[in-house]
Amino acid sequence: MEFDTIAAISTPMGEGAIAIVRLSGDEAVGITDRLFRSPSGKTLAESASHTIHYGHLVDPETGKTAEEVMVSMMKAPKTYTREDVIEINCHGGLVSVNRVLELVLRSGARLAEPGEFTKRAFLNGRIDLSQAEGVMDLIRSKTDRAMDVALGQMDGRLSRLIGDLRQALIETLAQVEVNIDYPEYDDVEEMTLPVLIEKCTWVRSEIDGLIRTSGQGKILREGLSTAIIGRPNVGKSSLLNSLLQENKAIVTDIAGTTRDIIEEYVNVRGVPLKLVDTAGIRETEDIVERIGVERSRKVLKEADLILLVLNSSEELSEEDSRLFEAVRGMDVIVVANKTDLPRKLDIDEVRSQTGNAPVVTTSLLKDEGVDELEEAIASMFFEGRTGSQDMTYVSNARHVALLHQARRSVDDALSAAEAGVPVDMVQIDVTRAWEILGEIVGDTVQESLINELFSQFCLGK
Ligand code: GDP
Ligand code: ZN
Repeated sequence: MEFDTIAAISTPMGEGAIAIVRLSGDEAVGITDRLFRSPSGKTLAESASHTIHYGHLVDPETGKTAEEVMVSMMKAPKTYTREDVIEINCHGGLVSVNRVLELVLRSGARLAEPGEFTKRAFLNGRIDLSQAEGVMDLIRSKTDRAMDVALGQMDGRLSRLIGDLRQALIETLAQVEVNIDYPEYDDVEEMTLPVLIEKCTWVRSEIDGLIRTSGQGKILREGLSTAIIGRPNVGKSSLLNSLLQENKAIVTDIAGTTRDIIEEYVNVRGVPLKLVDTAGIRETEDIVERIGVERSRKVLKEADLILLVLNSSEELSEEDSRLFEAVRGMDVIVVANKTDLPRKLDIDEVRSQTGNAPVVTTSLLKDEGVDELEEAIASMFFEGRTGSQDMTYVSNARHVALLHQARRSVDDALSAAEAGVPVDMVQIDVTRAWEILGEIVGDTVQESLINELFSQFCLGK
């Protein structure tokens, strides 16, 4: 395939001391050579592939040195896009990186659309669609564990499993073909149905397994939405501050979205927590008063995890009981705070009201019990987790939707087979399932879908 040469800033704006402008395409080397001067006078075109060169960029119009740079030169096909790729590393700062970008654009490169580098990697056959989406999630992922999921997908783990499922379906179809081609052999028909039922049952249970992981995948990508609630003065702000201080707060830029609920991310033992409505805790103390009953109910309803704080130096109040009531059925961890003061709270009474919610005692004043709380958060999160580290997560809404569709088709095939419908009728459903699964890895997608997907990427990837 042939494409023009594209360029973009491929490091996040304003982050770090080094910024990279990346070019990809047949003209990447030529365009850079028009600007680049190395001390040795050697051009990039004359150099070996996959080498790094120190030098300066010179503005061809003015002849003036614009920037001190390191240039990585990578010839196709062993590159990210399978095209010639140039990466110009320059000193950070918006001004200098923009100047470099402007120079390469003036010298013949075109500004890349969001996701266009990854799109080329896909179109040039280096990665499949689910891997490309893995890249997209990686760019967006906010914590280590979310990163693992994205990396796993890029690895092709999901692709491999989908490949196995499709293989099983193809084998079933082959069997059906035999059956249709040789209808005179009765025993072929007899063999076909059991094979079909066996294979389709396996495929269906694998799809179910993937769908089950999808809830967790979503949480991993976006963070476990966590609300800290409790009566005034029990220690909510103290808890929030202690979680924010002890754990790496994850900086997020939710660009372009106006949110009236403030979110902060922390990474607690590998579990990404999205602490919702922390502004409410910080400023007005009373979430209900501040955002209204309806909205606070909604915040609670959408929370994946509730940290319900009590004052252990006081008896359980009616207000506490109302909070227990409000969060019934949700994942709750009770934090009985202020254990440095004489205890009046009856923990057994708390347990009887909360069912099986873990109860952790803390003295946030003395910095005690926070470890135990973090432990409780982590074990609650990993408890629901079946399988091991190398489990395949589905963390992408499009994949989940397709899995549900594929499951329905396999299910239809199975019901038909079990009802004794002629095999060539069953074939239609099996074929459909095979096609739908193919869409996850990009085998059967149309151009428009591809464009839609890649336009979601960040610029420069
Ligand atoms: P909030 O209203 O629920 O956000 O509670 P704050 O975190 O603002 O705390 C209210 C008061 O309780 C403050 O004076 C805190 O210093 C104090 N406090 C918080 N945690 C503890 C604790 O573990 N022990 C004691 N003795 N006081 C605490
Ligand atoms: Zn407070």
